[in-house]
Amino acid sequence: MLRIEDLWKSYGNEEVLRGVSLEVDRGDVEVLVGPSGSGKSTLLRCLNRLTEVDSGHVYLGETEVTGPDTDPNAIRQQIGMVFQDINLFTHLTARQNITLGLRKVRGQSKAEARRRADSELDRVGLLAQAGSYPAQLSGGQKQRVGIARALAMDPEVMLFDEPTSALDPELSNEVLEVMSQLVAEGMTMVVVTHEMRFARGGATGITFLDEGKVIEHGPPDQIFDDPERERTARFFQSIR
Ligand code: ADP
Ligand code: MG
Repeated sequence: MLRIEDLWKSYGNEEVLRGVSLEVDRGDVEVLVGPSGSGKSTLLRCLNRLTEVDSGHVYLGETEVTGPDTDPNAIRQQIGMVFQDINLFTHLTARQNITLGLRKVRGQSKAEARRRADSELDRVGLLAQAGSYPAQLSGGQKQRVGIARALAMDPEVMLFDEPTSALDPELSNEVLEVMSQLVAEGMTMVVVTHEMRFARGGATGITFLDEGKVIEHGPPDQIFDDPERERTARFFQSIR
């Protein structure tokens, strides 16, 4: 479903991605781990054209995401993204944050957009907060609205970039529960997270990235318990 071929990306003299390749099948939950600065966020951003690659290719099914004629806005509907920083519009309610894109991008009627927004809010357990403004919501609730907003666009793949790192443990849990529910629904996901419990329970594959390279990739049990590379073992010891 998602094919990443030999991605290279530099900022100035710094090579941030150095030949990253990865395949994600439909229904896969690929968890990316690696030290700070290893290129995890850059890689995710290249997958939906928030960042342009220097060379290499990304394919979503038959579509070349990185193709010069591909519309990044169309890609961003098909590949939804949830960031660490919760980027809701503060002057809009939870529901309005979701209907905005449905009306502007999808051209849905007010009633249609509202129905869809409420159904997505219900999916993340926040229908009762539909009329609340971001300031009235907890960090975990805001993050769940962000997830609902991405889901409303019917994405084929969801990208998560450390969605819980800014949250207290109990608020993290409510976000992780929503993510686990998406896993159970068969959503294809690429997730950057330090939540190893989620990774163990939900991931179909773990990719360990260091200095812009895939050091190791495999099923969770192998990568966590029996990594082939010493560098991988050291990383997991350091975060334990
Ligand atoms: P990670 O998410 O694994 O912590 P990032 O992809 O955020 O890593 O960053 C990898 C490296 O690229 C870091 O050294 C970072 O400073 C650099 N970098 C990321 N984005 C930019 C940018 N927009 N401009 C310049 N340097 C950047
Ligand atoms: Mg990052």
